Amino acid sequence: MALPFKLPWKIYLENLLNGDTKMHINVDYHVHPNHSIDAKRNATLDSYCLEAVKKNISQICFTTHVDLNPYLEDQLKVIRFSSVQLPTDHESMKRYIDNCEKVRYRYNELKILIGLEIDYSHHYDQLIKDTVPWDMIDYSLVGVHYFKKNESISSCNFTNDKYMEEQIIKEYYYNIEKAIESNMFDAIAHIDLYKKSSGFQLFNLESSLLKHTFRLMNKHNVALEINTRKDSKGDWFPSKRIISMAACEGVKKFSVGSDCHSTDDLGYETSKAIAYAVSQGMTLLDIPKTYCSI
Ligand SMILES: [Zn+2]
Ligand SMILES: [Zn+2]
Repeated sequence: MALPFKLPWKIYLENLLNGDTKMHINVDYHVHPNHSIDAKRNATLDSYCLEAVKKNISQICFTTHVDLNPYLEDQLKVIRFSSVQLPTDHESMKRYIDNCEKVRYRYNELKILIGLEIDYSHHYDQLIKDTVPWDMIDYSLVGVHYFKKNESISSCNFTNDKYMEEQIIKEYYYNIEKAIESNMFDAIAHIDLYKKSSGFQLFNLESSLLKHTFRLMNKHNVALEINTRKDSKGDWFPSKRIISMAACEGVKKFSVGSDCHSTDDLGYETSKAIAYAVSQGMTLLDIPKTYCSI
């Protein structure tokens, strides 16, 4: 017999699917404040908090870049503090975390999480392990940004050589899997980042690599990030096809983030991404506030 009224959860789900931001939680777990050198100068911690309150975003997680790649130029491996840039090391990360923690107490209505977006390769796995102040962060997001040691995966010119491109994608997933097995990370950022540069549709190769990766994610309890960055033009990282595939392969948890580098972009399409992943049967990662020094 059909019920004469809609169950509350059904209304909730419908609103989620319709992208109604008032009815459900909205979060942004991938936020670059001006401590990241590629973020806007005026993208301060405070300005993001004010923007979050304005946009009805209940939780934000700051994730400044941590780049320790020894094959990369030193000037790219820094954390910015108002007028100075310090090399990315244990001390500068602690200083960034201290700044985030101070902001926390100014915005009671907002859950402010402290995280890092950590670049990973198996070449410097141990360096990451030894350098990051793990007990001082709530969230560790991993991204593989380079191939062949220091070539950017998102802005390279793939060679128009299908064989080469396959090798690069295999190397990429090798690093993703090593990152998962390291047990250092809570979520994987922009898992199909290489599609920005890729000239080929490597669905078969990608699907088989992803299936294996998803199994490992389940085993190690690592979440899949849906990265909605504005320059993605609606094709999130990963694409909806891959999100559905992840759900089919049993990946339960997802994270979501706009990867914003300016306050205007905070929360860009995050509620849509949450609605989509929930419609696929996935659950939004709940990041507990674990670090508190005061
Ligand atoms: Zn990234
Ligand atoms: Zn990022």
